[in-house]
Amino acid sequence: MPLYHSQLYKDSLAQLENAAEAMSADPNIVERLKYPKRAIQVSIPIRLDDGTVKTFEGYRVQHNLTLGPGKGGIRFHPHVDLSETTALAMLMTFKCALVGLPLGGAKGGVKVDPNDLSRQELQGLTRRYAMEIGPFVGPDKDIPAPDIGTDKQTMAWFMDTYSQVQGYAAHGVVTGKPISIGGSLGREAATGKGVAYCINFAYDKMDKEINHSTTVAIHGFGKVGVPAAVDLSEQGAKIVAVSDHTGGVYCEQGLNVLDLQEFCSKEKGLLKDYTRAGVEHISNSDLLALEVDVLIPAAIDSVITIENMEQVKAKIIAEGANGPLTKEAIKYLSEKGVFIIPDILCNAGGVIVSYFEWVQGLAHFFWDEDQINKTLHSILKNAFAEVVKKSEHYKVDMKTAAMCAALAKLEAAMKLRGLFPG
Ligand code: GLU
Repeated sequence: MPLYHSQLYKDSLAQLENAAEAMSADPNIVERLKYPKRAIQVSIPIRLDDGTVKTFEGYRVQHNLTLGPGKGGIRFHPHVDLSETTALAMLMTFKCALVGLPLGGAKGGVKVDPNDLSRQELQGLTRRYAMEIGPFVGPDKDIPAPDIGTDKQTMAWFMDTYSQVQGYAAHGVVTGKPISIGGSLGREAATGKGVAYCINFAYDKMDKEINHSTTVAIHGFGKVGVPAAVDLSEQGAKIVAVSDHTGGVYCEQGLNVLDLQEFCSKEKGLLKDYTRAGVEHISNSDLLALEVDVLIPAAIDSVITIENMEQVKAKIIAEGANGPLTKEAIKYLSEKGVFIIPDILCNAGGVIVSYFEWVQGLAHFFWDEDQINKTLHSILKNAFAEVVKKSEHYKVDMKTAAMCAALAKLEAAMKLRGLFPG
């Protein structure tokens, strides 16, 4: 069955089963959570700039809508398929439940390399995709957001297409929009900021603090990695290595994060071309194996696997991406004593501020950035404490504990709502 083949889906199911076993969850509830509620496949034909028509395959999966409307990003990436999208939707269900948002889990995607398309072609692709999944999304049904390969411009085209059909400006249909059309302050940096907050909570738990001797390596210097690097370096940490898909850069004394950020924000600012005195080029696999205090895999899933897990020397791994460690790697590294901050907690900052954006859009009333960051911090702090509590209570690793905390909330809500039709 096409639903089950991906590593991420298998790993997500394994995480669910581990948690269910640890907390003796109701098997009838777990059975329901293994499958998506609704999975839509669409064809997206677009006219390319050369006049020919090309069809792309797209998806929107709503995994569970018990707690509220579906929530989750839209990914434009060549690896997108039904199985991966379902796994990511499932992770969104647990992420929203864990941090206490009144939202369900969903995810969408188009199998495409956005770098292969012109701006006009990308706009056509986004608008046609929005039309095709249009009947299934909406402020009360399912609210997409950016993910890998999509950004605030994609959200603006999506919102405009949906609004054209409705006949009015429907701000609540997507989050991660530009500020001028109802976006929220703080949304762009929220995921990375949340990662940095969680690393601070981990340090607090260990009675340590981040200072000039703290070393950090970041796999994926992008939407998540950049704000995490900025925040941590402002606190004095040394960001010794960062990478993108073209390779990594390393400096034992610490990289100049602001210079790197400026370099990468320029068109074609690829790290393979970053040359500065004292900065060495390293491969992505070298970066993952560095002896650092904190490793942040912030790019894509399944980068630390059975193949390379033994080379990892970091003391803390903060999962900035969704599912960057396979289940074998999680088991091996947790047993070795590595403190893993689980993805559904570590990268939840994005969806938390998406939730603020949705609420602000529905209320037509906007908050200042300070209020956004303070509320984000307090939600993540409580969620972190809850995961630690579950980990101590059930004597399980942080990854399983995060799933236990989320599953407990889902189980309670699903039992109260009952099984339709009975
Ligand atoms: N794509 C992000 C995630 O994986 C954000 C989702 C959202 O803001 O709805 O959490």
